[in-house]
Amino acid sequence: MAAITREELLNQLQQQYRETHPKSADYFAKSLKYLIQGGSHNLRLFAPFPFYDVRAKGARVVDLDGYSYIDFWQGHFSNILGHNPDFIIDILKEFFDQGQGLITGFPGIYQRKLAERILSRIPQAEVIRFTTSGTLASMYAVMLARAFTQRKIVLKVGGGWHGAHPYGLKGITRFEAGLRSIESAGLPASIDQEIVTIDFNNLEDLEEKFAQLGERVACLIMEPFIGAGGFIFAQPAYLQKARELTKKYGTILILDEVVSGFRFHAGVLQTLYGVEADLTVLGKAIGGGLPVSAVAGKREILELCSPRAPLEQRVKFEGGTFSAHPACMLAGASYIQYLVEHESEIYPRIGRWGAVVRQSIEKIFRDNGFYVCCTGGEDQLGVQSSLVGVHFLRQELPSLSSPTQVFNPAVSDYLVREVLFKLAMLAEGVNTFHGFGAISAAHSEEDMQQALAAVEKVARHWRKIGFQFKEN
Ligand code: PLP
Repeated sequence: MAAITREELLNQLQQQYRETHPKSADYFAKSLKYLIQGGSHNLRLFAPFPFYDVRAKGARVVDLDGYSYIDFWQGHFSNILGHNPDFIIDILKEFFDQGQGLITGFPGIYQRKLAERILSRIPQAEVIRFTTSGTLASMYAVMLARAFTQRKIVLKVGGGWHGAHPYGLKGITRFEAGLRSIESAGLPASIDQEIVTIDFNNLEDLEEKFAQLGERVACLIMEPFIGAGGFIFAQPAYLQKARELTKKYGTILILDEVVSGFRFHAGVLQTLYGVEADLTVLGKAIGGGLPVSAVAGKREILELCSPRAPLEQRVKFEGGTFSAHPACMLAGASYIQYLVEHESEIYPRIGRWGAVVRQSIEKIFRDNGFYVCCTGGEDQLGVQSSLVGVHFLRQELPSLSSPTQVFNPAVSDYLVREVLFKLAMLAEGVNTFHGFGAISAAHSEEDMQQALAAVEKVARHWRKIGFQFKEN
């Protein structure tokens, strides 16, 4: 039997998906009249069309066509406790039953609670200011760093994703120029010179860039755990060197913990490395399912957004209409409290499942003749990681340490991960993202076994039809 090409496999998978999802297909077609690509977030709108969800609870999401999927996307990896946890819904119901919870335009009594709870888990951070998205928070962090240092250059990791603001839109996924190109139209012309990208986990490159530019660098912004760039932890020596060099050159170290905050333990990842950022960016989990993000850090830096700051250094991080929204503050404060109180039950369990899934998926594919590498695990510090990235490799590699490998088509087949494997797993009732995704406390042993059985079924089928991870 002739080997199946990727195009043939893609056609088969898409055709099967179309046939089995007529209601979502119809909803999508009608949505195109009003919404670009049928929605408002490109990542959610995969081809040929997304399934439209009608219910989500715990580990599962149910779509318009009545399918129930085991979900590892979990609200862009925000939902550590699974979808719509009862206690958060009950707290919000009670709040709304009292005729409260919508925007008032006053500070309210819950934001201090959320601030206290978060800051008690980031010992070096003195103060925090809330906003509504990770994008805004990371943008404000960079603006604060530039104002504080009165310097212009922003060092960022190639493959790092900090949201769609001008200081984050260089070197994200486009590999051709080595993750060094501007990735959005409409930006100020100077931005290309002001953002300099570095190679993640590459000590030599880090040292070289600081030797060349150090005195002019306002901040180094990086994720201690690269999320969208491939689910890869910073090597401890790398993060420690980043801290050492930023101190030496008077550069602000911004750690973007939008993904890693409260994901690996009830606190921030930097604590496990023994590294202290000047500013920490938070988002996702801290809102308990509602939109909350924050910049936490040194008072002397954050003070620049107060009206008391000297005019030439004042940063317009003044707040937006929905900043510190009452329902979001209450949900976030309750969620963080729950994570702290249940830390020893939640994290070891989901971390163990992470390790099992990473090892099992690699083995399943190896046994079927494919090179697959799972990221999301960390060996040197023993971080309990519930995140699993799956990379379909062109040749055998024991590990991936940088987005420059993840986005290099000669190393890793991005299309297989994001399109073919995704559709193949959906057909088995499992919703994956970046190859697999985030395990939550709501995933049961049965869910996990079922997900692994689905991976096995896909790998066996691909072997049977002669599919290979190469261009053809
Ligand atoms: N920073 C990181 C590390 C992220 O992963 C994301 C989003 O995924 C953001 C910032 C942007 O957050 P938001 O999507 O809430 O704007």
